[in-house]
This record gives sequence, C-alpha cells and structure tokens, in this order.
Amino acid sequence: MRLYSRREFNIIALGAVTLTVLESAQVLADDPCAVQHPFMPPRKEFMGQCPNCGMVRSMWARTWMTFENSAGKQEVCSFHCLADMAIKSGEKPQSVETALYVIPEKMVPANTAWFVVGSKAKGTMTLNSKIAFPSEKEAEEFTKSCGGKPQSFSDTFKLALDELSKEKVMVGQKRIKDGKIVEPVDNKDQCPVCQMYPARYPKNRCQLIDKEKAIHHFCSTQCLFQFLKDPKPFVSKDVSPMMIWVTDYPSGSWISAKTAYFLVGSRVQGPMGQEALAFDKNAEALSLSRQESGDVLMFKEVSFEKIKPKE
Ligand SMILES: [Zn+2]
Ligand SMILES: [Zn+2]
Repeated sequence: MRLYSRREFNIIALGAVTLTVLESAQVLADDPCAVQHPFMPPRKEFMGQCPNCGMVRSMWARTWMTFENSAGKQEVCSFHCLADMAIKSGEKPQSVETALYVIPEKMVPANTAWFVVGSKAKGTMTLNSKIAFPSEKEAEEFTKSCGGKPQSFSDTFKLALDELSKEKVMVGQKRIKDGKIVEPVDNKDQCPVCQMYPARYPKNRCQLIDKEKAIHHFCSTQCLFQFLKDPKPFVSKDVSPMMIWVTDYPSGSWISAKTAYFLVGSRVQGPMGQEALAFDKNAEALSLSRQESGDVLMFKEVSFEKIKPKE
C-alpha cells in the first residue's frame, strides 16, 4: 500500500468536501420547498431597505413588495410590513407589486399574483408564510409538495391585517432577545448630546444603530435630530445610521423612525422641552395635535430647527 504525500492527501480531502457540497446543492434543487430564504450571503444586486423594520432587500428579496400611499412610493420586506404601514397611515395601499418567490428579480402587480399561505417555505416577519406565484396554477402546483393554501391578494392582505397585532408583539420581543434593540441602562448609557440618561425617559427615548453596529442612545427626539444634523461635536468619528428606533409616545413601544408620525410644535414638553413626539399611528398623532396644537410630520420632514426654532 502506497502512502499519500501530504499534498496528495490534501487534494483528495478537498475533493471529498467539494463532492459533499455539490450533493447537498443537488438535494436543494430537487426539493422545491428548500428555496434559500433569506439569501446568505446577501445578494448585492438587490438594493433597498424596509423602512418599517430595517431588513435589507439583499437578503429578503423573495417577499419584497412596493406600493403607493399619500406619502409617495414605498417598499417593504413583507406582507407584515405592508399591513403594518396600512394601519399606521390609515390608508389602503395602492398599486401594490410583489416579488415572485422563486424569481425574486421579478415584481408583478399583486392583484394578478396568487399567494401560497402557510406552506413549508419560510416567509418574512411571520410564522405563517405568504409567498407569491405568477398564477393560480403555479401556486397550486407548489402546494402539492410544500403544503399551504393558494389565495388571492385581497384575501392574503386581510389575513396579514388579522395577524398583525399578535406578530408585532412577537417581533418586538425577538428584537430585544436578539439584541437588535437594546434597552438603555440607567446610570450607564448616556445621551451623547445632553449627557442625560435615556432610561429615565421611557416615553421619549430613541436609539440609532450605525453601520458598524454601534448603538447610540438618546433621551429624546430633540437630541436625536440635533445629532443627525451633525454628529461630529458628539462622537469622535462619522456615523452613518443603519436603523433608528423611536418610542411610540402613547404606548412606550419601540417603532421605526422612518415610518413614524411626529407631532412637532405642540404644547407637550419632553426631556429637552420642545420635542417631536413619535407615534406609530397617524390618527393618534393628529388627535393629540387637535388638543395640544402642532403639526404632524414624517421623518424626512422633521429637522432640529423645526423642533427647536431659533427665538
Ligand atoms: Zn419590513
Ligand atoms: Zn439628550
């Protein structure tokens, strides 16, 4: 028996590994339910981020959706965020388009697509997946091996609305558990702008996660927007935000700043005096503005100058 040299042995071992990888890829291709979702590694050709939850299209492209409302054209990661933004705005989404699950490059009008609900294939932001196919026939074909039920867009949207409040609780708990949102700690995490402790302001605290995954805690939106205007006086290096969480003023829950409604210029005072009070629902922001004055603005319209005008 001939002994292999170290080099020959390495080549043989490498071959064995490659073969195993090829075999498992083959299994994947034969099983229509084992479509890779989310993409790992992320696929850079898909650009975009869900403003409602921060998830990126380069990973979650298979369930991506676009729509229009009075604020313009929007994109979301999933039916969950589509339904959530409908509730937040109080508006029915218009001109909804959906990515096809197996051809995520392709966006089609949602009312021409068919959705398989509750199959073995994974969804996004839900335990009850809702994935799009170009026709009823193709949706039905998929259910034969992967289970689930084919439905129209309007029925699937109704279901997403019904499931929303339960899912929001679940998603909120998971974000804390996974460290996507970190509660500020009293006497430890300081607001970089005013040096106060954000943990003491449970109706106003906010946090920014930068591209390097560092978390910056703020006592309030006034300090947050002052920081966003120019972070340099407060931190040693430049900060590019990946995600910003603010507090829903009525409930104290964390919500995405990008899809929040801000009451600016009201009589209600916060940790720094004048604030942009954040709301999950436009209707609740408008209701407080009728009692306490002020204007309801979207994230893009808010600025430090609008929160604290020069006297
Ligand atoms: Zn989302
Ligand atoms: Zn502050």
